[in-house]
Amino acid sequence: MSPPKKSAKSRSPSKQPDPQDRFARLNRTYALLSAINQAIVRIREPQMLFEMACRIAVETGGFLMAWIGVVDSKAGLVKPIADTGLSEDYLEKMNLSLRADPLGPAALCLHTRRAQVVNDMSAEPAVAATREQTLHLGYRSCASFPLVVSGLKPGCLNLYASEVDFFDEQELALLNQMATDIAFAMEFAGQEEQQRRTKLLLEESEQRYQTLARISPAGIFRTDADGVTTYVNPKWSEISGMRASQALGDGWLKAVHPDDRERLIQGWRERAGSRQTSYADYRFIRPDGSIAWVMGQAVPEIGPNNQVIGYVGTITDITGRKQTEEALQASEARLSLIYEKMSDVLFYLAVEPKDLFRFLSINSAFLRVTGLREEQVVGKLMQEVIPKPAQATVLRNYKKAVRTKETVVWEEVSEYPAGKKYGEVTVGPVLDAHGTCTHLIGTVHDITDRKQAEEQIQQLNAELELRVDERTAQLEAANKELEAFSYSVSHDLRAPLRAISGFAEIIARRHRASLNEEGQHYFDNIVQASEHMGHLIDDLLTYARLGRTGVRRESVSLAGLLNEISKHVQPRLVEMGGSLTIPKDLPTVKGDPTLLSQVFINLLENALKYHQPGVPPEISLASEDEGLSIVVKVSDKGIGIPSEYHEKIFKVFQRLHSDDEYPGTGIGLASVRKSVELLGGRVWVKSQVGKGSTFFVRLPKE
Ligand code: ADP
Repeated sequence: MSPPKKSAKSRSPSKQPDPQDRFARLNRTYALLSAINQAIVRIREPQMLFEMACRIAVETGGFLMAWIGVVDSKAGLVKPIADTGLSEDYLEKMNLSLRADPLGPAALCLHTRRAQVVNDMSAEPAVAATREQTLHLGYRSCASFPLVVSGLKPGCLNLYASEVDFFDEQELALLNQMATDIAFAMEFAGQEEQQRRTKLLLEESEQRYQTLARISPAGIFRTDADGVTTYVNPKWSEISGMRASQALGDGWLKAVHPDDRERLIQGWRERAGSRQTSYADYRFIRPDGSIAWVMGQAVPEIGPNNQVIGYVGTITDITGRKQTEEALQASEARLSLIYEKMSDVLFYLAVEPKDLFRFLSINSAFLRVTGLREEQVVGKLMQEVIPKPAQATVLRNYKKAVRTKETVVWEEVSEYPAGKKYGEVTVGPVLDAHGTCTHLIGTVHDITDRKQAEEQIQQLNAELELRVDERTAQLEAANKELEAFSYSVSHDLRAPLRAISGFAEIIARRHRASLNEEGQHYFDNIVQASEHMGHLIDDLLTYARLGRTGVRRESVSLAGLLNEISKHVQPRLVEMGGSLTIPKDLPTVKGDPTLLSQVFINLLENALKYHQPGVPPEISLASEDEGLSIVVKVSDKGIGIPSEYHEKIFKVFQRLHSDDEYPGTGIGLASVRKSVELLGGRVWVKSQVGKGSTFFVRLPKE
């Protein structure tokens, strides 16, 4: 509780009332002052004036309750003598003692003879006794004003308002003035002087009103009881664009937008006489054609005989607000169109305590993709909408977005009524003014088609691999079978061949002389052919046997190996006058010594065999380190191989010459390739007809 101060305490800037409201309130207080002054002029009897003052305070002043009390010294109390709206109940509980501690506002006002204000009745100890009723009845602040009249007991006027901090400085000054006017009038009751003073008061009051109206930042108008305009202030003219002289009577209606006129008049008629404040938003068209949106309100002025004597109203320019509202509406309409038309799923969630998330709104894509109905989603918790298997991931990501205040993205798969759906989910936080995450906004991009295609491809790949494996196994089996077959065939051929050559030998030994020359020639052919067939079978057997007993992997010194082999070819080389060059630094490789021997014997023998007719063979070996492997080169300056045969010569029975020209079986290079491949290497040739050939053998290094 506090006496009025220059600046009201405990009023934070955020509670500062809207200037519009303040002017509307002050306007009402002026109307109250004016009505009281009119009553003073007419009523001489103190009790009647007190009662009338209380009634006007409630009806015109808009207070919830008003009462006047006087000192009852005997009882030590403030005794209520007039009131409007004071209930028996409230009276009984009120702190009216003149000796209480703390004193109630009325008692304190009578002690100090100064106005007392309680800005917030719910927090003031001096009015604690009535707190419950106070709150129930809607009283939030009150003020007591001294009524000191000589010859009468000292009294006070008590007013109760529905808002906290209602009594600001200006309000208090006016109400104090009113209390002084009442007291003054009582003092001079019945005297001539009183009439003159009161008339003066009335004029002053009107004057004050006019001054306020003139400087008011709100447009103000007054009408008589029939609603005919009697006054507009300069601000009204400024807003409407119409001069005061034009506005009087019904002139002001011409400035009102034609679309709003009917509604305005209608509303005015409905509320006229109801004694309530009326409100309306409408438009003025100014002479320059521009539009001014205004918010208007009008309060009835009540006369001393409780009749409506006119209306006081204000208009406030709300063009800016309307424009903002319209822009906002347009932008909202645009946004909701986007929201609805988006092909991606959109949703908006409220973040509730205890890690709960509630769907507030969703777009139609949400329903289309999931196959859920709106009532199964909107207003429901996440756990009631998202299928159970996905809930843990979803919850973890929602919480992450709230905690980090950052967008979270993940892929999700769930079984909905519309089927199994894969989605790329993005969830972003919506922060309030304090930076707290209060909502989440999310989108889901449906990637079901893509995922299904991926799954299909994976499945097909797996099937394909399986089929390739099966085929490889089948091929391997077929190869093995073929090898086994050729092995047994060649093996079986040996016995009859042995018989042929055995008998041929006997004939050669015992009966050659009995054959004529032609017979001998044919017989020689038989011997030659069976020899050749013997080689063929041997070679085939060697080829088929390659790798059958397993491939060893050990360090083999190529220098050692080749020196050993060269011994076998040396006699023929000498015979032909040829040369073989083996470098000293041939490296060591990883491999099977038997297979390696076969490889190089074959290559060296070919180099010897396929020399240019009449030119001694010139063979050289070389090697190259490739890091992980070694390439050994066997070069000759022989007849060379046409390029179209560079691949074919490595196949079984591929020969480029007749047996007469160059004897052979056509299995040597096939064996070379098979051996090298068994060792994990590769063989190939570079050659030019007439210039010679180089065979390359790549082998894994040690
Ligand atoms: P063969 O020597 O028993 O005919 P190979 O498989 O060893 O069988 O060789 C296949 C063919 O490749 C030979 O018939 C020959 O025409 C050709 N050839 C192999 N080595 C050489 C070489 N060093 N120079 C020219 N031709 C060669």
